[in-house]
Amino acid sequence: MSKQLIVIGGGAAGFFCAVNAARLNPRLKVIIVEKTGKVLSKVKVSGGGRCNVTHACFDILEMSKQYPRGGNFVKKAFHIFFTTDTINWFETRGVNLKKEEDGRMFPVTDSSQTIIDCLLTEVKKYGIEVRTNTEVKSVKPRGEKFELMLSGGKVLVTDFLCIACGGYSKSSMFDWLRELGHTIEEPAPSLFTFNMHHHPITKLMGISVEKVSVKIKGEKLEQEGPILITHWGFSGPVILKLSAWGAKVLKDRNWEFSIGINWLPDFNDQLLKEKFQQLRFEIATQKVFSKNPFALPQRLWEFLLQNSGINKELRWADLPVKEVNRLVKNLSDCEFEIKGKTTFKEEFVTAGGIKLNEIDHNTMMSKKVTNLFFAGEILDVDGVTGGFNFQHAWTSGFIAGKTIAELSI
Ligand SMILES: Cc1cc2nc3c(=O)[nH]c(=O)nc-3n(C[C@H](O)[C@H](O)[C@H](O)COP(=O)(O)OP(=O)(O)OC[C@H]3O[C@@H](n4cnc5c(N)ncnc54)[C@H](O)[C@@H]3O)c2cc1C
Repeated sequence: MSKQLIVIGGGAAGFFCAVNAARLNPRLKVIIVEKTGKVLSKVKVSGGGRCNVTHACFDILEMSKQYPRGGNFVKKAFHIFFTTDTINWFETRGVNLKKEEDGRMFPVTDSSQTIIDCLLTEVKKYGIEVRTNTEVKSVKPRGEKFELMLSGGKVLVTDFLCIACGGYSKSSMFDWLRELGHTIEEPAPSLFTFNMHHHPITKLMGISVEKVSVKIKGEKLEQEGPILITHWGFSGPVILKLSAWGAKVLKDRNWEFSIGINWLPDFNDQLLKEKFQQLRFEIATQKVFSKNPFALPQRLWEFLLQNSGINKELRWADLPVKEVNRLVKNLSDCEFEIKGKTTFKEEFVTAGGIKLNEIDHNTMMSKKVTNLFFAGEILDVDGVTGGFNFQHAWTSGFIAGKTIAELSI
């Protein structure tokens, strides 16, 4: 008798598990159940509608460093299915990916629909049944099978179960998984931007600086990279990276914290003071406001000077030591009070989920319940932006699908 797999969740991880399981064991009956009316809805909106499928990183250790939670787990799993496998998998099915300058990889069509169409073609090819508007309320292991209670009161029975229901924002939403005996790492949002509504610097919205260093005061959290000033506060890669690495502590602080920005991370205080001394002689008669010696955007330079109490008419030769010290502080450790967060519209994820020590990274099978599998964001794995979250969905989905195919033959 042929066996059956039910995958809970019609997202990237669920589809990847389903299509690979069905392909590797054509006798397996596979059903995807999805609570909403649409499948692959996050894939659709991902990467601004282009779907950042993966990242052009071909070194497992380097890649694993991009996951604030679950780095060790993905490092082992990547030995089974890595970025090269993702690229080949899609290419074999006629979807070519291209690499952008920053390493992000997109379909050459620049459309997430290409990825959706590819996965839907596979679903059709292997006769996978997709049931939308079907929410699983609870799961009970019954002998060697699972009983799934659906929202309308119906019950489904299956031999293999893969839970790929994505991240949940509230702890109580995990209750049905706790009932299966699993422990949950408390959820926290990740990949958000920092709010400072009405702060004067927000008048400089649209200005970006290629390389700054930002630290969170009172924590060992510091990142370097491009920053963007927005009309609500700060965004850009350095902020998103900090939000990811600090997801848990920032939630504990209710997203109210101070940051220090070093606008010139290639200088230290001593080097800055020496530079100012040099400028006093070299451009003595020029106004400090008119000459920006660090290639910072001019309006930002003026903002920092005003913040340091420097008079518009002051010339380099006349710059008092007190003002120099204030300017050095504003350039190297410019403090801002953050109040709240805004979710980054291109990509956001939930940190937390099923504790990884309860999952076998070689199979994605639960160590607590035989033939129960997990894949994707429901696991306590999350990456920074750049295609890392989808790569984890593909990797865990593939491994779960492959294991189920092998076990069900
Ligand atoms: C706006 C946005 C853009 C993004 N862009 C990118 C990007 O470009 N690159 C990248 O790497 N990552 C991106 N991400 C993150 C990425 O989309 C996720 O990490 C990834 O989709 C997770 O896949 P998943 O299959 O685990 O979960 P999901 O895609 O969330 O799918 C889970 C599915 O399960 C369903 N479900 C939940 N509970 C139940 C239940 N009880 N019964 C039945 N069904 C259920 C949900 O409705 C959902 O459809 C983005 C995220 C967002 C929000």
